[in-house]
Amino acid sequence: MKLLAAVLLLSAAAAAASAQPFTVGTARAERGHTATGYIEVPAGSDPATSIPVVVVHGARPGPVLAVVSGAHGTEYASIIAVEKLIGALDAAQVSGTVILVPLVNRASFDQKVVHVNPVDGKSMNRFYPGKADGTQTERASYAMTKEVVERSDHLIDLHGGDLDESLVPYSYWTKTGREEQDRVSREMVLAFGLDKIILSTDRPADPAASRYLENTATTRGKPSLTAEAGYAGTVEPEDVDALVRGCLGVMRYLKMLPGAVAPVARPVWIDSVLTVTSDAAGVFYPQVKRGATVAKDAVLGYVTDLFGQRVFQARSPAAGIVLYVCSVPSMTQGGTVANIGVVRVAE
Ligand SMILES: [Zn+2]
Repeated sequence: MKLLAAVLLLSAAAAAASAQPFTVGTARAERGHTATGYIEVPAGSDPATSIPVVVVHGARPGPVLAVVSGAHGTEYASIIAVEKLIGALDAAQVSGTVILVPLVNRASFDQKVVHVNPVDGKSMNRFYPGKADGTQTERASYAMTKEVVERSDHLIDLHGGDLDESLVPYSYWTKTGREEQDRVSREMVLAFGLDKIILSTDRPADPAASRYLENTATTRGKPSLTAEAGYAGTVEPEDVDALVRGCLGVMRYLKMLPGAVAPVARPVWIDSVLTVTSDAAGVFYPQVKRGATVAKDAVLGYVTDLFGQRVFQARSPAAGIVLYVCSVPSMTQGGTVANIGVVRVAE
């Protein structure tokens, strides 16, 4: 009887725990419900900000998955994908909890500023795990680490080509050397469904210096991934759909949604990414399209001065895939012309 009483007590405690609401920032969702709110980032040396958050607290218990976009506020397709997911997820159908953060970098979105948070001039995907007493980007990253990363079992960080980048969709698989974590994150990337997968082995291993959002989760032992789709300010349905489908595929893999997983049948593994920069400032003319296969030394584009004289020709340092190419004429000295993905040779 004693044992039975203890078991009953334990299961009552477990039931009580699983009946608890799930709170992120000011969003507090009861089980089986969705709530919206904000992660408040207090003012410091510069103004406060508040990051919108949605908690879909599924009807049944399960893992906690965070889906984040808008670290770069003009990578619109990824932001719209999370907006669509907010509408698509029904807490009654979900096992576990989804934390959705559609727009981290609000000032970038509001002011249409590429790459950085205009408040402090910092990229909002380079200062993780953040600092409580830093500038706004660092304080926001600190809040994201505490409120989102530390509360999750898995994280998906969505990006895309920025206003000046013509990008082909791809995802990143971060290999840590921890076998079980790598197995799960690899299967998540395959379940996400983008066929081009960059193998990322050069991320910092120190959780206190994780730099990137996904890496903040990864270095804390949480199998996670980054995916990118969209380019040059566009919101093409195929890019948005690919990211929405990807997140739903990962949720099926994690058994947060019913249904079979359809992993990528023939992944194109990209072992390294080579960044090609311009030796000269001026007017850029691309000669390749995103996703093109190029040979070593293929011309990627050229730069003229403001009088139309060619001052630089960019060539591919290796055979590979054009992951993205600069999509606007503005070119600075040292500016990125293209990223070339070197595809793994079949063993
Ligand atoms: Zn980005």
